[in-house]
Amino acid sequence: MRVLDARKILREKGIRPRKSLGQNFLVSPRGLRAILEAAELRDSDVVVEIGAGIGTLTVPLAERVGKVIAVEIDRRLVEILEEICAGYPNVLLVQGDVLDFSLRQLLEQGGCPQGPCKAVGNLPYYVTSAILRHFLENTPRPSLMVVTVQKEVAQRMAASPGEMSLLSVSVQFYSKPRIVCHLPAGAFYPPPEVDSAVVKLEVLPDPRLPPEEEQVFFRIVRAGFGERRKTLRNSLSRGLNLPVTQVEEALAAASIDPQRRAESLSVEEWLALYEKLRVNLQAHQRLSK
Ligand code: SAM
Repeated sequence: MRVLDARKILREKGIRPRKSLGQNFLVSPRGLRAILEAAELRDSDVVVEIGAGIGTLTVPLAERVGKVIAVEIDRRLVEILEEICAGYPNVLLVQGDVLDFSLRQLLEQGGCPQGPCKAVGNLPYYVTSAILRHFLENTPRPSLMVVTVQKEVAQRMAASPGEMSLLSVSVQFYSKPRIVCHLPAGAFYPPPEVDSAVVKLEVLPDPRLPPEEEQVFFRIVRAGFGERRKTLRNSLSRGLNLPVTQVEEALAAASIDPQRRAESLSVEEWLALYEKLRVNLQAHQRLSK
């Protein structure tokens, strides 16, 4: 599979990649193939591309799907994208910070307000978590995301109980993540200081909780992870300002050993715990008003 020669294109245009914008351009045919395959592209798809760069992904996406809405923050690169995508009327280029646009706005601009859509991108690493949160926590959500991220972040996103973190729970609350492949630093120009991985996130079609309950759920999860190496019994009691006995009762009712630590719980166990704890939290809040 042919990949654009990022080094040559940038040199010809007299553009130096900006580290501060996470500008490491994909030059690996294997990486490109893996991303395209993971996205399970169809003619009818609408794809939002996050951080289009010089169009390395944009062009093969445009050749395979109905519409590509490509967001790029750097005006210098948008000029290159305009040239490279000139022959593809199904590409809409949007210049700006992807975090400034809701998915709804992007879909409206692309003339497909109804969705559904997929989101694909070799993410700028300085803003990975914010981008994941932006696309997963707001509605509408993409039905599928394929993102390249730092290898360690990919491992945390797809972690199993025993190695869970706040990021693992946040990502797995909304989706089923799977690492598709690892990419060495040399898969990019210029090479970043870290290795990368492509992650496929199958976004759950139905939310696990109503939106108004998500905040309370994540308050409990944050409290659990708040004090590293503490047992759940202690971290939840301190973090939520609840008596230890109440936390112990909720843990027992959710069949969770109070000596376990936050990193050992699956999302399903957090949900079971949430169901038992939320009543106590509401009562406690009423009393302290
Ligand atoms: N997609 C290209 C590729 O695969 O070669 C570029 C990937 S590079 C890792 C990340 C791209 O995201 C850069 O082009 C950078 O300018 C752009 N970018 C950085 N921050 C952004 C933001 N907040 N919103 C939109 N694009 C951003």
